[in-house]
Amino acid sequence: MPKAKAYSAAGATSPLASTTISRRDPTERDVQIEILFCGICHSDLHAVRNEWGGFMPTVYPIVPGHEIIGRVTKVGSAVKKFKPGDIAGVGCMVDSDQTCPQCKAGFEQFCPNMILTYNSPDKHLGGVTYGGYSDGIVVDEHFVLRIPSNLSLAGAAPLLCAGVTTYSPMRHWGATKGKKVGVVGLGGLGHMAVKFAHAFGAHVVVFTTSPNKKEDALRLGADEVVLSRDANEMKKHTFSFDFILDAVSAQHDINAYLNLLGRDGAITLVGLPSKPMEISAFNLIMGRKSLSGSAIGGIGETQEMLDFCGKHNITSDVEVIPIQKVNEAYARLAKSDVKYRFSIDMASLKAE
Ligand code: NAP
Ligand code: ZN
Repeated sequence: MPKAKAYSAAGATSPLASTTISRRDPTERDVQIEILFCGICHSDLHAVRNEWGGFMPTVYPIVPGHEIIGRVTKVGSAVKKFKPGDIAGVGCMVDSDQTCPQCKAGFEQFCPNMILTYNSPDKHLGGVTYGGYSDGIVVDEHFVLRIPSNLSLAGAAPLLCAGVTTYSPMRHWGATKGKKVGVVGLGGLGHMAVKFAHAFGAHVVVFTTSPNKKEDALRLGADEVVLSRDANEMKKHTFSFDFILDAVSAQHDINAYLNLLGRDGAITLVGLPSKPMEISAFNLIMGRKSLSGSAIGGIGETQEMLDFCGKHNITSDVEVIPIQKVNEAYARLAKSDVKYRFSIDMASLKAE
């Protein structure tokens, strides 16, 4: 069984540190990938710290990472889409049953037997799956994505999670020309949401708690920026939005945003704070408003998003770091101090 270098955390308060893990020999349907870049998603931080313990407890040691870009090194005999040397991507899922109604409809993310890239049961090796903070991974071809050749690899990695998680709801709820669209939280997901909403032709308003992100928001494609802690600024947008995407990782008052939706407006949660939120029914009924949620996107839609990014030259704004800086990056992520995604250069693992 091939060994891979990786970074793992031994417990909820332990730092990530160098380790060695096993990867399976590729089966006939598998693609073996040498990982070149892996983005750092706030979900990695939630999982490492077991912040979602009540819903999906973390099994330690954990190797996080689900924004993976790499080079194919080997393929099984039945693999059709990839050959050694190709650039390939892997996102949040590595398996599903592919027979249930959700899979058949292209919604692998809702399959009851979906396997996440990390912290899910590993049916090949036992234990749990290990993610992309590693120099290699072996994945069923169905869950491996093609990466348009014009995109930078470090900047394309975050598309595999932050990209599709924002693209999918914006497409579903129609963030198009003529629509007023809000994005709450200018982090990894939020900055991709701004790029997509702008590319789809919507009027984009960013809500941020960080005054120092204002200029960036405009550069990324926002038409307006609102400091969400300024009640007067918020008030100006009362009853005016068609759609708001909430990409905030921590506790916050969502009622303030329900007030900003117009008639039949919809707010969709993609951010996953660990605690339940309070919602006033009054804020929903006046205007027939909708509150919903969305999780990543199916494999077909992920490929569609990547192809869209290729066509429109969209990548994530990344700060490339060596794996040795991952704990520092987590500390900054926890403080909303990231512009706008960390992308780990996996060549740095060679030094371990
Ligand atoms: P991130 O880069 O850390 O961005 C989160 C942003 O939220 C921060 O940059 C900050 O933006 C804002 N924020 C943080 N704390 C806040 C607070 N107390 N009050 C108000 N705003 C606050 O995180 P991310 O990687 O984009 O992920 C965002 C969330 O989405 C996480 O909970 C993650 O687990 C979840 N997620 C969900 C899915 C899905 O499928 N639904 C997929 C991936 C990630 P400002 O500085 O602009 O205020
Ligand atoms: Zn993610």
